[in-house]
Amino acid sequence: MQDSLVLFSILLALLAGLGAGKVWERYKLQEGRWIDRRKIRQSPHFILGLNHLVAGQVDLAIEQLDKAAALDPKALELRLVLGNLYREKGQVGRAIHEHQSLLQRPRLSRLEHANIQLCLGLDYRRGGFVDRATAAFTEVLRLDPDSEAALANLEKLQEDQHQWQDAYLTRKRLAQLAGPPDQPKSQSILAFLETEIGLQALKEGQLDEAGRRFEAAIDADGSIVTPFIHLGEVRQQQGDLLSAIATWERAIDVAPDRSYLALGYLERAYAQANLPNKFPELCRRLTAERPREWRARLALARHLDAQNRPHEALELLLDALEHNPHALAIHQAIWNTLSVLDLPRALVARYIEVTRRSVFYLDPHVCTRCRYRSTELLWQCPHCHEWNTFVEERIAPAQDLAKSDA
Ligand SMILES: [Zn+2]
Repeated sequence: MQDSLVLFSILLALLAGLGAGKVWERYKLQEGRWIDRRKIRQSPHFILGLNHLVAGQVDLAIEQLDKAAALDPKALELRLVLGNLYREKGQVGRAIHEHQSLLQRPRLSRLEHANIQLCLGLDYRRGGFVDRATAAFTEVLRLDPDSEAALANLEKLQEDQHQWQDAYLTRKRLAQLAGPPDQPKSQSILAFLETEIGLQALKEGQLDEAGRRFEAAIDADGSIVTPFIHLGEVRQQQGDLLSAIATWERAIDVAPDRSYLALGYLERAYAQANLPNKFPELCRRLTAERPREWRARLALARHLDAQNRPHEALELLLDALEHNPHALAIHQAIWNTLSVLDLPRALVARYIEVTRRSVFYLDPHVCTRCRYRSTELLWQCPHCHEWNTFVEERIAPAQDLAKSDA
């Protein structure tokens, strides 16, 4: 009897403890007042604020979340989010003020401190305060060395300022943190950064160092064409013409759809090395392999023009125009060739007919991430700052339009 009473009282104490724990979890003593921690999340303002946020109505979201935050003036996360919303609205000064005031709070945990600094860094970056943004992200990393967000932002700041070596080291850290799933992306970014470092060395006339950097870039990601192009330049400047040619030919093998980047170099190098048949052969092979490849046709047409073979050149150009009517370079080359031929009426009429069937398009290159458009191929997007996201937007001749016109 005595035993079961003891057991019962132990059980009762356990239950009471559990209950107290639940209460403690839910309520928090704040400045002599018990605050229901669930109050914020269960308040209509919080839910309404989230709904507005999902609908992209930032102003209304701010209004509701501000009311929700007033329920518990000590709540940190909601004020952080409010600051971020001000930034997204473009009110950078207000965002900075909001986040800075959070830093003044006593007894911030290390992680809370790091989170506030991260938000401040984003505010500064948005406001264009590069040095302060760098300092904020560096502070985040001091508090939380594994912060991938801080590293990624720091890398972009370093790239913006062409601090390629620093950006390279930052990306190395990021790659290590992110682990295998992120490896291919990091490898290709490292290749681009190595290439930029190599270009700096090339500009300063350090051929050996530049060569090493371009080779390292190729090792990091062998599918990117730029380091091949520049390595070829290095080999040429080092007086090794055949090695330069081999490097540019490798560039074409690696990325056939970007072969035109190497074509100009190869045309001159083949001529210099006394290999006159090589260039037409290469262009014909590229065109045969990829029927839509217009730049190889254009390059060969110019080559033939220079050899006084304008009729052959014009056939290639009209063919190229059918595949890519938006390329101004083809139109210019056609008019050039037509002028050389003294504007024969029949050929001019053929050109006009091909053009009429086609639609024109400006800015043919487009960023696959943010849809930023550019007339030329860019390796880093000036808008979203991502690497290797540009593709050429190709359009077929507008056949339906042509029919309805007729
Ligand atoms: Zn972009």
